[in-house]
Amino acid sequence: MPRRYLHRAALLALLALALALSAGAGVRAQSSADWTALYRPALLPDFWGDMEAWADAPRYTLDLMLAVNAEEAVIGGQATVRYTNRAPSATLETLVFRLYPNLDSFGGEMTVGRVTVAGQTVTPQLDATRSVLTLPLPRPLGYGESVDVALSFRVRVVAGRERLYAQFSYLDEVLALPNAYPLLSVYEAGAGWWEEVAHPQGDAVFSETGFYDVRLTVPADWQVAASGTTLTERDNGDGTRTLHIAAPLMREFAWFASPRYATLSAEQDGVTVRCHYDPARPQAETNAEMALRVTREAVRTYNRAFGRYPFAELDVVQTPNRAAGIEYPGVFVVASPVWDAGDDFFAFVLAHETAHQWWYSLVGNDPVRTPWMDEALAQFSVALYIRAQEGEAAYQAALESYRREYTRYIEQYPDQVIGLPVSAYPQDAYFFMVYQKGPLFYAALADEYGLEALLGALRDYFAAYRYRIAYPEDILSEFERSLDYGVDALFAEWVGVVPVG
Ligand SMILES: [Zn+2]
Repeated sequence: MPRRYLHRAALLALLALALALSAGAGVRAQSSADWTALYRPALLPDFWGDMEAWADAPRYTLDLMLAVNAEEAVIGGQATVRYTNRAPSATLETLVFRLYPNLDSFGGEMTVGRVTVAGQTVTPQLDATRSVLTLPLPRPLGYGESVDVALSFRVRVVAGRERLYAQFSYLDEVLALPNAYPLLSVYEAGAGWWEEVAHPQGDAVFSETGFYDVRLTVPADWQVAASGTTLTERDNGDGTRTLHIAAPLMREFAWFASPRYATLSAEQDGVTVRCHYDPARPQAETNAEMALRVTREAVRTYNRAFGRYPFAELDVVQTPNRAAGIEYPGVFVVASPVWDAGDDFFAFVLAHETAHQWWYSLVGNDPVRTPWMDEALAQFSVALYIRAQEGEAAYQAALESYRREYTRYIEQYPDQVIGLPVSAYPQDAYFFMVYQKGPLFYAALADEYGLEALLGALRDYFAAYRYRIAYPEDILSEFERSLDYGVDALFAEWVGVVPVG
């Protein structure tokens, strides 16, 4: 939307802000002491204390304005990000943001305008894929020091354009907009900034847990489903509506919008599960009820098995994606044909994507180099969901189904370990090794140590790495502590070489 829509109320708000800032340090000190208050509605009260422990995580403020017509959608945005260097032995000369819409596999267009660091304008550099934006820091950032970055940006999505899984797209009046803002990459001690650009299949995004304070202005008749919780919604009186959304302790902010969506919601263990679906599609009501039922049961199962989901809301969204399902923090999508079928595979996808809230969203991992860490566990989690629903025989049948698929594959093609990067697997091998053989690694651990002991180890792993990033050596050392030091032999056999942590 053009700037002329900035109305009087907004100007008055800016004036009030300017007055508040000029009132002196007292005002700022008070507001900074209470910085977590804004985010509380998005977390269950038992987890409010987690925010102070993560006070130095990246803090994003996003102001996004969507303009959409039949041919394209354009998002004009302003981001401010407070970044704190948490790498003990590193002094940073640069910051790296990722512009994921520019990857070929996303098929969008993202441009960044003026960028300031600590109030000074800087000239960023873009790589050949236009997805890695490197910002020079006016002065090096030592351990524990913070810096404020401001970026203006514009994202364009062309209607009808589909790349890879159509995960970033504008199809059938549905906008899918994950990572549609400059997202800080991960600084890894010893390796530097993560700048992976290959995305032949699987997931592309690796990021750190942060805080998102988002103002999103959309056409008044478009519905929004997003990471986090909507705090307020305001009709601007000009055909637009502004949502204020808080998404604390999340490693990405994803949003989806459509004028078609209806919503069905219910509570599970204090979490509001919301299903967003197109009511004009076949069996829409029945399938939405199924989506709600399965997702609630999956949340209940994983809360008990692994530890609690801390967020106040989980959104399930029907989109025209080509991946069956795709996970994001606090929200996931299921492909329309899968949703419409309303069958066992729909339940499978819902249970798999819900499990990613524990494995990927809460316990993070590099999905390009170590896809097994979230995918194999999400697949094994589905078997646990089936066990909770239908009992032991159904659980064994679920594992047998993985075993059948894996065996069928290795009768024709070479066997591989599950712990390789996506790029090390020929096209289909990625699916058969990571998604079919992967959960059998956990079945082998259950055979060796007992299912209850394995669940105990997974609970310890979740508790230790919730909101953090885990590497293979981390899960190995957690399992060594929880199960037995001899577990490294099973890791070597199934996962491959894991560096000693
Ligand atoms: Zn998955």
